[in-house]
Amino acid sequence: MNAELIAVGTELLMGQIVNTNARHLSRRFAEMGVNVYWQTVVGDNPGRLSDAIRLAAGRADLVVLTGGLGPTTDDITRDVLAHVTGRKLATDRAALEKIRRFYEERRMPMPESNARQAQYVEGGEPLPNDTGMAVGTALEHEGKLYVLLPGPPREMEPMFDRYARPWIERRLNGELPIFSRMLKFAGIGESSLEAALEDLFRGQTDPTLALYAGDGTVTLRATTRAADRAEADRRMEPVVAEIRRRAGAHLFAEEDVGLEEAVVRLLAEKKLTLSVAESCTGGLLGQLVTSVPGSSAVFYGGVIAYSNEWKTKGLGVPQELLDGPGAPGAVSAETAEAMAAGLLRLTGTDAAVAITGVAGPAHSEAKPVGLVYAALAARGEPVRTDRLNLTGGRDGIRLRAARHALYRLWQWAKEKP
Ligand code: ATP
Repeated sequence: MNAELIAVGTELLMGQIVNTNARHLSRRFAEMGVNVYWQTVVGDNPGRLSDAIRLAAGRADLVVLTGGLGPTTDDITRDVLAHVTGRKLATDRAALEKIRRFYEERRMPMPESNARQAQYVEGGEPLPNDTGMAVGTALEHEGKLYVLLPGPPREMEPMFDRYARPWIERRLNGELPIFSRMLKFAGIGESSLEAALEDLFRGQTDPTLALYAGDGTVTLRATTRAADRAEADRRMEPVVAEIRRRAGAHLFAEEDVGLEEAVVRLLAEKKLTLSVAESCTGGLLGQLVTSVPGSSAVFYGGVIAYSNEWKTKGLGVPQELLDGPGAPGAVSAETAEAMAAGLLRLTGTDAAVAITGVAGPAHSEAKPVGLVYAALAARGEPVRTDRLNLTGGRDGIRLRAARHALYRLWQWAKEKP
């Protein structure tokens, strides 16, 4: 079965709200094994909405419309679907009663227009709205399926999950559901990863592979159709094993978890502790780590050493590294190293990570925006320092710098017994 989603609302076209309903529904349809081939957005205009519905019905088995079921005159979706299918509107008595009661209980007169919200397209089934007033419709017409859902996500989602989804699933005649597997990478760019796996991407049919870049991480999704999870895993395993073999050094998780979560879990598992010294990231690394529940088991704390003075006083970075003729300066491998080593002395954690760099927009000839040094000090080991040339705006650079430090930490911890 394939589907088209039509979101109705001029607000969406004007950029005032984001079409999160399409995202929710597309995710659900992927789970159900329904292919979503088109997503359309159309304003509250009867002519254009009719055109959109006819076009969708001409190319999809299932047309799902969201929005425009409210009481006001610009809420036209159910009338337009009725018109396009040559049907009338019917009233759901139970829903009308609920609307009446709502006004009665508040001792307010019910505006007549509110009765519209109890209407559905005749010949279809009304879909109850447990979290609002407007009922939906599920309709079979000339071999096509139509589903009407309200616009507000807090009404649309439960109506879909509780009533529309089972109605669609009863009409799915044995199509296999889709299963996905997420592989998460760090310390490698999207294009380098793609190049390393190029032939796998070229030859892909089952499972299909897709890459998505985040800030400092890349996600690869493998997807297949199967009767159940176990069969899907069996089908995906050979490709996943090959990916592991080629890019395993960057593969920090085989499920949909963030890098910070993977790092905290790994440190906890290996009973390792961490402290951080941050200059250009201004506490972001500590923020990422502490965003993970349970991070208190591994995170000792951090120092935001933004000024040179505090780098010296707080972390013991030698003055002569920071200023004076010929000094490497605050943004240098030497300073990053001294920050990490100083922090390790101060905190006594298993690992101490330091970041210093130029997040921009201010920069100098020798120190371009995006130049970042990240150092990792651990007891009894030489300090490891990376020089990074990051791209993006100030926020992007800071986030990628913090994520790189997390990646190095993950690599380091992975080798620990
Ligand atoms: P109501 O009964 O509240 O009038 P409705 O079914 O008529 O609901 P709309 O009037 O189209 O729906 O939209 C109501 C609100 O629902 C919007 O202001 C917006 O907040 C939200 N909404 C509508 N469509 C979407 C969408 N596609 N994605 C996310 N939110 C949406």
